[in-house]
Amino acid sequence: MLRKIEDKVMAGERISFDEAIELFMTDDIFSLGEIASYVAEKKNGKKVFFIRNRHINPTNICINRCKFCAFSRSKGEEGAFELTIDEIIEKLNPSRNTNPTSPITSYQEVHIVGGLHPNWPFEHYLEMLSKVKKNFPRLNIKAFTAVEVDYMSKKSGLSLEETLLALKEHGLDTMPGGGAEIFDSNIRVRLCPEKISGERWLEVMETAHRLGIKTNATMLYGHIESYEHRVAHLIELRTLQDRTGGFQSFIPLSYHPKGTEIGGFYSSGIDDLKTVAVSRIVLDNFDHITAYWIMLGEKISQLSLLFGADDLSGTVIEEKITHSAGALSEESMTPEELENLIRMAGKIPVERDCFYKEIRGKEQRAKSEKR
Ligand code: SF4
Repeated sequence: MLRKIEDKVMAGERISFDEAIELFMTDDIFSLGEIASYVAEKKNGKKVFFIRNRHINPTNICINRCKFCAFSRSKGEEGAFELTIDEIIEKLNPSRNTNPTSPITSYQEVHIVGGLHPNWPFEHYLEMLSKVKKNFPRLNIKAFTAVEVDYMSKKSGLSLEETLLALKEHGLDTMPGGGAEIFDSNIRVRLCPEKISGERWLEVMETAHRLGIKTNATMLYGHIESYEHRVAHLIELRTLQDRTGGFQSFIPLSYHPKGTEIGGFYSSGIDDLKTVAVSRIVLDNFDHITAYWIMLGEKISQLSLLFGADDLSGTVIEEKITHSAGALSEESMTPEELENLIRMAGKIPVERDCFYKEIRGKEQRAKSEKR
């Protein structure tokens, strides 16, 4: 049934909107996985990447209060928090997180995202970047979603370009891909009415790419959207990537309903695997597809490696956003645990930096840390 699409993919041809819908509708997930694996292996062989990273959320106070978000709070509400810059620096000290079976002696990357704080000026974010870089000069900083960057631009009165340049000058290395959700405006108005539009999200990313800032891209699926909305979202990303080449990885994010205003169900394992596979096939100009194990769980993430994913994200260490919405995964995995999941899937584990540069063994890691 998928033969025609398979032939097209094998011939290196791009699949259409209707063909992507056909892939989502199929019950033949094994053939779907084979096609996606073909694309993944053509790009990355049997390699599967991971990174020693740590997530930090500076605050959960957010003026947007999206209806799918169980993480955010209003100022003064129970459970609201805001970290000082010193507290962020303290969290980044690896000795705070030593695991007796596998001590992480240094992180390669910090991933910083948070709410839109009503009172923090732009200078606060710049100071945060500068102090992190000053204290950990070799640490890659992947920070701030397109939503946060848009907010900083509005608060500071600077253009998007000026805002991003200032962030870059103060230490920003790359940007995560959050805030994309589903681009369709009819879905967005029900899901996150206060959030920037899909067009604005794409504009922020295009500007970042033009300034040489690599980013990721995401899609939140499994809530109120249809397959058509998902495919339209993927094709928007593919079109922008054709223009800029600035996206590093695509990360499908499975919706978690607990504690959210819109409620609903967790996505199914089959839907997770289909979404990874269809993303891999549609996004023929993305080098990497990430199985974010925090959301998919360790076991579905491992299976995703047979459905087109070639990246398992990282060690994470502390995770608040998805766990606020009922994530069933752990908050942290050691490099050895990640490597084991990858090996047991018949793949080759490769440690990477935030630009997907390979770090081979302790020696190379030490060199990379000295950069
Ligand atoms: Fe705020 Fe992001 Fe949560 Fe929306 S998803 S409420 S922007 S923290």
